[in-house]
Amino acid sequence: MRTMRTLPFFPPDLFEDDRETLLQAVHDLGVGAGQRFILGDRTAELEDALCKATGAAHAIACGSGTGALELSVRALDIGPGDEVIVPAFCCQPVASSVANAGATPVFADVDPWTMVLDPDATEALITERTKAIMPAHVFSIMADMERFRTIAREHGLALIEDAAVAQGAVLDGRPAGRWGDLGVFSFFQVKAFGTTGEGGVILTDDPGLARACRMLRNHGQDGVHRFLHHRIGLNSRFDEVLAAFQLHRLPGFPDRLERRAVIADYYTERFEPLRGRGVLAPPAGRNGRCYYVYSLLVERREDLRAYLTERQIGTHIYYPVPLPEQPAFTPWAPAQGSWPHARQASARNLAIPIWPHLADTEVEFIADTVCEFFA
Ligand SMILES: *Cc1c(COP(=O)(O)O)cnc(C)c1O
Repeated sequence: MRTMRTLPFFPPDLFEDDRETLLQAVHDLGVGAGQRFILGDRTAELEDALCKATGAAHAIACGSGTGALELSVRALDIGPGDEVIVPAFCCQPVASSVANAGATPVFADVDPWTMVLDPDATEALITERTKAIMPAHVFSIMADMERFRTIAREHGLALIEDAAVAQGAVLDGRPAGRWGDLGVFSFFQVKAFGTTGEGGVILTDDPGLARACRMLRNHGQDGVHRFLHHRIGLNSRFDEVLAAFQLHRLPGFPDRLERRAVIADYYTERFEPLRGRGVLAPPAGRNGRCYYVYSLLVERREDLRAYLTERQIGTHIYYPVPLPEQPAFTPWAPAQGSWPHARQASARNLAIPIWPHLADTEVEFIADTVCEFFA
């Protein structure tokens, strides 16, 4: 039988097993002779490890996933007068990273089932001013990167792959983060390879872009001449304690991802029969899947959510307001624009727990409870 604990959506014990390692890393850094707390040897070692894990020529660790997107946009010299096509249903940094560079985020609608940027909607918005496309993987599905590569190539555009939630995912044999000119991961706590603080990374094969990202993450300095600023950059540096911690967590990452995938397979099998009752589970299968979050599309979302809450099962609603309808993005949302699928995703998505340390009995209890609601 299931233990009687509650099943929060955001579990408080994600890093329980690694607490001693974290404390040791703080201690080692604190007493270390170099007193180098950012961008030191451990950061370089983590960057090398991520290159090996993904096949990327360059990995640049930085302050957050948001920072990674901002650095990517700036490394491509995107600025005033330029347009970047971003998803209308997503985490807000896809749009703010563009706007903060003085460029224009152009919102394209998403796929009604998978909730990722729609390639046809994207292509329809390309103009003379378009400089880049920024698809993002959300929840359990990678965007159609093959199509986006083709579109980018045909129109001479840069491709920034927001793989913030998709580290470790693989589509047609190619890892997430490796499809664009630049690919981005986030180490925010609840992301696939989350950590105990802020962090992110940029992957690229292009030495010029890699060099630009390295300079821009540290105020435009080249790493050799202190206080010589080649460009106006950001402070988006990486923490040595977190680098040590992530190096420790890396070998266990594939197993944690596999556990998430097993849970997702089970959920999808259980929820498939609910299709006629206004519940859409993500497409089954393993190709191009990232099980950062398991999100259902549910017509009676609020009722199901209340039912689960009563039974101590935590849920989460991602992005209840599409980006073009956010007050902050009003200046970039044309009045005649319409993003019906983004709006529907905002109205219907409901995420249920998919943590690797959930026990089988707990996963079964969650699935049973969802099915019970519709019985
Ligand atoms: C979390 C996230 C980001 C931003 O990452 P942070 O590390 O939180 O700054 C960007 N894009 C997507 C799709 C995300 O989910």
